[in-house]
Amino acid sequence: MNKTILTGIRSNSILTLGNYLGALLPMVRLANEYSKEWQVNIFVPDLHSIISDVDGDLKENTIRTLKYYLAAGLEINDNVHIYRQSYVPAHSELCWILNCVATMGETSRMIQYKEKSKGQESCNVGIFDYPILMAADILLYDATYIPLGEDQFQHIELTRNLAMRFNNRFGEIFTVPAKTSDQVKFMKLDEGLRIRDLLNPEKKMSKSTAAENSKIMLDDDPEKAAKKIMSATTDSLGKIKFDMFNQPGISNLLVIESQLTGLPLEDVVATWAGQTSYGDLKKKVASSVSAMLSEFQSKLASISDGEVYELLAKGETYANEVANKKLLEAQKAFNLR
Ligand code: ATP
Ligand code: MG
Repeated sequence: MNKTILTGIRSNSILTLGNYLGALLPMVRLANEYSKEWQVNIFVPDLHSIISDVDGDLKENTIRTLKYYLAAGLEINDNVHIYRQSYVPAHSELCWILNCVATMGETSRMIQYKEKSKGQESCNVGIFDYPILMAADILLYDATYIPLGEDQFQHIELTRNLAMRFNNRFGEIFTVPAKTSDQVKFMKLDEGLRIRDLLNPEKKMSKSTAAENSKIMLDDDPEKAAKKIMSATTDSLGKIKFDMFNQPGISNLLVIESQLTGLPLEDVVATWAGQTSYGDLKKKVASSVSAMLSEFQSKLASISDGEVYELLAKGETYANEVANKKLLEAQKAFNLR
């Protein structure tokens, strides 16, 4: 098995507490755990960003996203490679070659494409083609594991199919990534973890939700964030229980508290069981959230742009070397070289 893990986060906008707890932190933990023995590629898929609108300046967002990884505790060693997709042209070139291997039928079946293009009179071709670019992102580096959200599993399956088809036709050129069921086992992600919207706790917290008080952003002023927690929607049942169905607001606060303190959810629930008012719980969670943000933001401020650019220079040299080698094999397969 090829020991490479590859992961990326789009840098279209600032992340929420949900993105932090559900994606960034687990990714960083996984990277730290495996980077002694495995190659860990962390890239910002900036070419994927432009299939939809970008808030702010994409270049700046990219640097900020990379600082997020560092502020979340990513340990850097020689096996950790940080790069920007558009600085490694082989991604786009292999995407084109794979475009000529993939079929309209299988690509049209992608749920993300159907959802993202729904109701759009003139959907851009990138929205249709980005799963193929994703396949190139993965196959260029012989990655076995690609920690991603559930919504991307279908794209992993597509990548596997393209790799197998290519290999059947031309010989063993690409590593076929692990099946999604094995990806899930590998990630050990708390699959059920979904931080809820503070005002409408039956929905998950999303960065694209318009209402400011629905979500905690990583750049929120800690005091302002504490106020958002204090004004979170709860219920009038007057008991503290973990019950996502009947008490999603309270349950969400318990989950956030458990995640931020590192205490098992059962322990947090046990601490608060028996209380009939929600004020003290809210105050405690508000203080945990503001403490977490203060610490995160001060770490973030201590990381210089220069530091990130230095990592990128190293990472992009490495990525171009590995990717160009693989691209050449694919070009040779088609007699382009
Ligand atoms: P958008 O509103 O643009 O869809 P989002 O907040 O849902 O934004 P995504 O970009 O869709 O974020 O997802 C980024 C990562 O964050 C994914 O791995 C996703 O599983 C995770 N994630 C998103 N929202 C939450 C949440 N509320 N709780 C836990 N994890 C989340
Ligand atoms: Mg989403």
